[in-house]
Parts: sequence; structure tokens; C-alpha cells
Amino acid sequence: MKRFDYARPADLGSAIATLAAAGDGTRLVAGGTTLFDLMKLDVETPGRLVDINGLAELRGIDTGGDELRLGALVRMADAAEDTRLKADFPLLSEALWKAASQQLRNMASLGGNLLQRTRCAYFRHGEPFACNKRNPGSGCAAIDGANRSHAFFGGSDACVAAYPGDFAIALIAMDAVIDVEGAKGRRSLAIADLHRQPGARPHQDANLSPDEIIVQIRIPANSVGRASTYHKVRDRESYAFAVVSTAAAVRIEDGVVADVRIALGGVATVPWRARSAEQALIGRRLDAETAAEAGRIAFEGAAPLNHNSFKIELGANVVRDALIIAAGRA
Ligand SMILES: Cc1cc2nc3c(=O)[nH]c(=O)nc-3n(C[C@H](O)[C@H](O)[C@H](O)COP(=O)(O)OP(=O)(O)OC[C@H]3O[C@@H](n4cnc5c(N)ncnc54)[C@H](O)[C@@H]3O)c2cc1C
Ligand code: SF4
Repeated sequence: MKRFDYARPADLGSAIATLAAAGDGTRLVAGGTTLFDLMKLDVETPGRLVDINGLAELRGIDTGGDELRLGALVRMADAAEDTRLKADFPLLSEALWKAASQQLRNMASLGGNLLQRTRCAYFRHGEPFACNKRNPGSGCAAIDGANRSHAFFGGSDACVAAYPGDFAIALIAMDAVIDVEGAKGRRSLAIADLHRQPGARPHQDANLSPDEIIVQIRIPANSVGRASTYHKVRDRESYAFAVVSTAAAVRIEDGVVADVRIALGGVATVPWRARSAEQALIGRRLDAETAAEAGRIAFEGAAPLNHNSFKIELGANVVRDALIIAAGRA
């Protein structure tokens, strides 16, 4: 691992000043559960680490008012256990519970979870494999290689790496907002705008500048969150990333769907909202037949790679089952 300097600022202003002065060779560290792995693999080679664990501004869960606010430093395990999250947004709690392991969830922060990088094996292992995300301009070994776990939505000729996290899939279904602060002040962006599709620049994962810190995540209070679930299919039932996942939430009025949210994980380069499937359900009864139809619609337009076409039928079934679970909670 490359040698690095270490700083632990005491407040947000000092952390931003340190970042702005240090430039792009600097990384923030929260739980360190993925950054340190990437440093050991020489994927990340920062000259300086800024430890944000001293920043009180990034802590706390605030359930008052018309939104739920989660500090970026809240540990995944603490958010998953929160009683309002469990009651009002079961999909958020379940997405956190079904991620990683208890030890990791105890250590890992919500902000770090959002910004984890792809698990593409070529990206993590580097030479002799071509990887545009790791070495811009080198090519993409996955497109004609082992691409079972890769994306068929949102990819490009340069990169088809799947976004690996669970929490952001549930957040995009809830139209969450991310507050970030940097040298130019504070701004808010929709979670849907946080992650970048690879296009021609796969090495840039997020729409953040190097001096920006995620401060908190805001989730609008709404009744659609209560009848919701995060349904995750993986190769083993614990401690594994999603092969396919679905965050589903529904509001039923007078026996028909008044509001529905469907988001997909494991199949796209960014957290993916299945809006045409949502549209197809509005004003209709939600039963096994319409849920299965929505599942099929969610995967229309998928461009599968050599080894991941099985995820189209699997994914449609995961959407169907998630909708049925959510409807059962309505
Ligand atoms: C074996 C294993 C299995 C896993 N399985 C899953 C899984 O099934 N589902 C899942 O979702 N995740 C999974 N993970 C990933 C895990 O959830 C992440 O490692 C963790 O959430 C990262 O949080 P952290 O606080 O440790 O981040 P760190 O490692 O500290 O940071 C990660 C990145 O985020 C940046 N960062 C951190 N905080 C901020 C902030 N506030 N503002 C701006 N940038 C910030 C850092 O600079 C770094 O680039 C797994 C990890 C491992 C090792
Ligand atoms: S899919 Fe993306 S991350 Fe994986 S090898 Fe190709 S360029 Fe690299």
C-alpha cells in the first residue's frame, strides 16, 4: 500500500478546508470498510486520508418534521435498527439489514455505503486486465469476459460495471435527497443524480467534486414508504451482493394503486428506477397477474451480455414478488 498522510479534522469547515487545500489525491475515510480494501489492492492510492469521524455535523437520525434525516456518519446497523425506519420505511431498513455482515454494518457509514465502488473483478484485480474505470483508456475486459454480475441497463462501450450497493436502491425508490457541502457551500441533489452512468468516463462514479462531503440524506415523509420491501436475491443468503434486487413500495386507495415505486439493483450501472413498470400499475388492482406484468415491463429494453441474460427472467420474478410483499403490507 502507498504511504499516506492522515488528518482528523474536528469540524466540517476544517475538513472542507483540508480537502480543498489538498486536491484530488485525497480521500475521505468514514468506516474504512471498502476504502482500505481498495487501497490494499492499489485501486485507490491517496496521498492523504481525511478521517471524518470527528464531525458531529454528520451524525444523528432526526425523525421530526416532514422528512427523515440521516447523518452521513450514521452506521448502517444503527439506521437498520431505528424504529421509525422500520415502521415507516421498511424497505430502507431491509436494504441495510440485507447488506454485508453484522460486523461490517457496525462499522460502515451510510455515506460510505452510497459511494462504494463496483465489485467488478477486473476493476479490483487490475493488471493484466483492461479496465477503463481503473486505468482510463485501457479498455474493458468485462464486455467479452466474465460478466455474470454486470449491468445490462445504463452501460456503455467503455464500462458495464453494476452499482453494488443496496441502500441507494431503496433510497431512489423514496426520492431521497442528498445534502453535500464543499468549498463553494452547501447544495442538495436528488439521489438519482448522485451516481453517474459510465458513458465515456467510467472512472468518475459520482457527481461530486473532490472537496465535497455528504452531510446527510433526507427522505420525504410519505405514506407510500410504509407498504414497502427490499427483496434481494443473492448467491448465498447472507454476506453477499445482490444478483438482482428490487425495492418496491405501494399506496393502495379504493382497491387500486394510487402510488407505486419500483427500483432495481444488481442489473444497472447506477441505482435504477423502473418507471414504465410503475406507470403500468397506476389505477389498477395489484395482484399476481398485474405484479408479474410489471415485472416483465421492468426488464423491457435490457441489453444482456454473454453471461447475464438469466437475470431478465429472475429480475421479473423478483419485481413480482417484491410487489406482492409490499401490497401485503398496504
Ligand atoms: C465482504 C463485503 C461484503 C459487502 N456486502 C455488501 C452488500 O451486500 N451490500 C452493500 O450495500 N454493501 C456491501 N458491502 C459494502 C459495505 O457496505 C461498504 O464497505 C460500506 O458501506 C462502506 O462504508 P464505510 O463508511 O466503511 O466507507 P469508507 O470505506 O470509509 O468510504 C467509502 C468511500 O466513500 C467515501 N466517503 C465516505 N463517507 C463520505 C462522505 N460523508 N462524503 C463523501 N464521501 C464519503 C470515501 O472517501 C470512500 O471513497 C460489503 C463490503 C464487504 C467488504
Ligand atoms: S466493466 Fe467497468 S469496471 Fe469492469 S472491467 Fe469494464 S471498465 Fe472496468
